[in-house]
Parts: sequence; C-alpha cells; structure tokens
Amino acid sequence: MYAEDAALRFCRHLPKLELHAHLNGSIRPETLRSLAEAKGMSHLLAPLNAVAAKGNCCSLEECFMLFGIIHQLTTDFGTISAIASQVVLDFAEDNVVYLELRTSPKSREGMTKELYVKAVLDGIDHALGQLQLQQQKGSNGTVSSTSNGTSGFNGTSR
Ligand SMILES: [Zn+2]
Repeated sequence: MYAEDAALRFCRHLPKLELHAHLNGSIRPETLRSLAEAKGMSHLLAPLNAVAAKGNCCSLEECFMLFGIIHQLTTDFGTISAIASQVVLDFAEDNVVYLELRTSPKSREGMTKELYVKAVLDGIDHALGQLQLQQQKGSNGTVSSTSNGTSGFNGTSR
C-alpha cells in the first residue's frame, strides 16, 4: 500500500494544532501496562488490554472505566511528570506545533492539587528541554523548523 504510506507520511509531516488534548487520554497503552506491572496492580492489565485491543473505538463507559484505572496509576509526582513529558514528546513526534494540553488538578494521599500541577509542568519543561536539544543537534527531524527559523514546537498551554 505505497499510496497509503505516502499519505500517512504526508499527514504526519504536516504542521498541526492540537486544541483539546487530555493528558490522561493521551497516555500510551504500553505505558499504562508498564505502570500497572511496576505498581503491583496487575489486576488492571486485563481491562487495559481489552480496551486497547479494540483500538480507537470504545464506548463512553469504557472510556470512563479507563480514566478510573489511569487515576489509580498516576498517583505520584514522578509518574505524572514522566507521563506529561512523554505526551508532549509524542505530539511533537506527530509534528504538532501548538498543543493545548488539558488536565484537572487532583489531590490524593501524598499529592496536593498544587503538586499535581507542578508535576505536569515539570514534565512539560523536561520535554521542551529535550526538544530544544534535539533541535540544536538537528538530530532526528521530528522537530520541524519554519522558514523564519523559529521553533516548530511552540509550547503548551499552562
Ligand atoms: Zn475535554
């Protein structure tokens, strides 16, 4: 399917604006599975795998079930920061040049709403630092440059 591959490459290369991306809805399925295993919550793997097997089409009930699982897995500063970083890098990889990342501050045991926001910002800063380094090195071409030389990744909403 050469034509499909070319079309996919063309679409990936197009600069894009993402105006409504939820942090918790943008986590890679393999990241969720790794977190479940690392946190000793393997009982969450079956429902995660069942929804992941369906691809992009799942019911509203399944979406809310997934968010319940995600909230159980994203309870500490390091995890939230790492996820925010990975999500920003994933969007940059798809040549998203403007990203509005949404999330609701959550407080849990050992995590205030303020710390949650700090973790998200920490992850975003980490990703932007990595993207800046990649751009300086001109390494892998996932970060684009515009004709006037400005960064192809303009940041995120805060
Ligand atoms: Zn929304």
